[in-house]
Amino acid sequence: MGVKAVSLSLAVLGLAAGVRVVIFVLSNSVALLADLIHNFGDALTAVPLGAAFLLRSPRAERYAGLGVVLAIFVSACVAGALAVEKIVSPHAPEHLLALGIAGVVGFAGNEVAAQVRLGAGRRLDSPALVADGYHARTDGIVSLGVLLSAVLVALGLPLVDPIIAIVITGVILQITVQSWRTVRGHSR
Ligand SMILES: [Zn+2]
Repeated sequence: MGVKAVSLSLAVLGLAAGVRVVIFVLSNSVALLADLIHNFGDALTAVPLGAAFLLRSPRAERYAGLGVVLAIFVSACVAGALAVEKIVSPHAPEHLLALGIAGVVGFAGNEVAAQVRLGAGRRLDSPALVADGYHARTDGIVSLGVLLSAVLVALGLPLVDPIIAIVITGVILQITVQSWRTVRGHSR
């Protein structure tokens, strides 16, 4: 049941991410890039648990955990660097309607994931799944930042896009710190 709920929500998020990657290529928006990296990083945090479960090895979980922390940290640095570069030499994102849709799709995908996880978490009395649900709901709000960027860029404020990207980079760095604490907690 719990596994089914999680796989279903992962499938929804995967589909939403595919659409959004295409829109990123079209729009070249760093805010959308940061949001994509954020959701990708969140998905990666499930890897150590999977490794521990499949390999039945706490050591594998720890190495997978360290790898994930490193991957998320590097991604955050890339998103931040690209955003700063867009502030130094501004280049407004294009295809703003598609960009707005990418924000809405991100919000909807995360909200679906949130409801599946909250529902299953309450049914199964699993605090971890409920916490995951609230996380996904917060991520949906972060994705609305991409919609905000599309609207404000359309109104003639192209710098809003990299600024939102930097805010989202801050959120990604927060995940990095949290994952690092979890991994270190396991290492004793
Ligand atoms: Zn998140």
